[in-house]
Amino acid sequence: MSLLEINNLHVRFKAGHGHEVRAVNGVSLAVERGESVGLVGESGCGKSTLGNAILRLAPVQAGQIRFEDQDVLTLVHRALFNYRRRSQMIFQDPYGSLNPRLSIGAAIEECLAVHRLGNRAERKRRVRDLLQTVGLDPDYAARYPHEFSGGQRQRVGIARALALDPVFVVADEPVSALDVSVQAQILNLMKDLQQARGLAYLFVAHDLAVVRYMCDRVLVMYAGTIVEAAGVDALFAQPSHPYTQALLSAMPDVEKGLRARAAGARREIVKGEVPTGALALAGCPFHPRCSYARDLCRAQLPDERAAGPGHMSRCHFAGKFVPP
Ligand code: SF4
Repeated sequence: MSLLEINNLHVRFKAGHGHEVRAVNGVSLAVERGESVGLVGESGCGKSTLGNAILRLAPVQAGQIRFEDQDVLTLVHRALFNYRRRSQMIFQDPYGSLNPRLSIGAAIEECLAVHRLGNRAERKRRVRDLLQTVGLDPDYAARYPHEFSGGQRQRVGIARALALDPVFVVADEPVSALDVSVQAQILNLMKDLQQARGLAYLFVAHDLAVVRYMCDRVLVMYAGTIVEAAGVDALFAQPSHPYTQALLSAMPDVEKGLRARAAGARREIVKGEVPTGALALAGCPFHPRCSYARDLCRAQLPDERAAGPGHMSRCHFAGKFVPP
């Protein structure tokens, strides 16, 4: 039994002018204990909405989420409270998620108090331990969010996420707002914490290099669907879906870009916008932007196809070089 199992999940919401956005369209995935799964795609592809839906922070229209063999979407009261303790979020912008009028010690202690963990003195001790765990001076507990750098604030965000001893963490673009040198420090911290605590991560990111460094497996999301899923080495060595190939070919790392192009990707960065009403589009949702699209792609939604062991691609021509 996987730690987290999602089957055929759908998330829709109304945008301006009553337009319906199909943010997540029939997503299925699993995350094992202690595993780090990357979820990549362009802005607007639905990856953050999926992360929010898993944590019950976005309404789900259909599908199933099972966590530790519990049906997450039917949890209420105490059971939902416990689920929130076991699964946490690390945000892209920790500053936005911290109350500027609360010291960071009080912000972390608040999580413990809400869950009635320990008495006042025990909670204060726990806050100091958590700050030390994430590489901050425990005396910083008395300081306020504006007194910290971006990297330090993200350490506070991580400490807060860990306060309740979760087993699963959704990390939503946790380093994208940080300088490159600080990014590496935060990623290393997250890796160390994962090993020490057996954490499972769903690592939401648009930066493929970050995902390659952090993750065991990668899911590529486009227009609300998972279009490719593979182990990290297989995905970077042999991207099968034209969208993944285009993302890799656009990576600044020349070597990886060349490898993606050798697998059949065109050199250009994928053009156009991610469609938000993918179900309304006949055929493959990627066909308006795919330089390999044929008549079949415009008429028929591709099924999942095996592109290798543990490697799935949702393309009619998975893994094949498609001639122009
Ligand atoms: Fe491109 Fe067709 Fe594959 Fe879709 S099914 S990714 S349009 S080749």
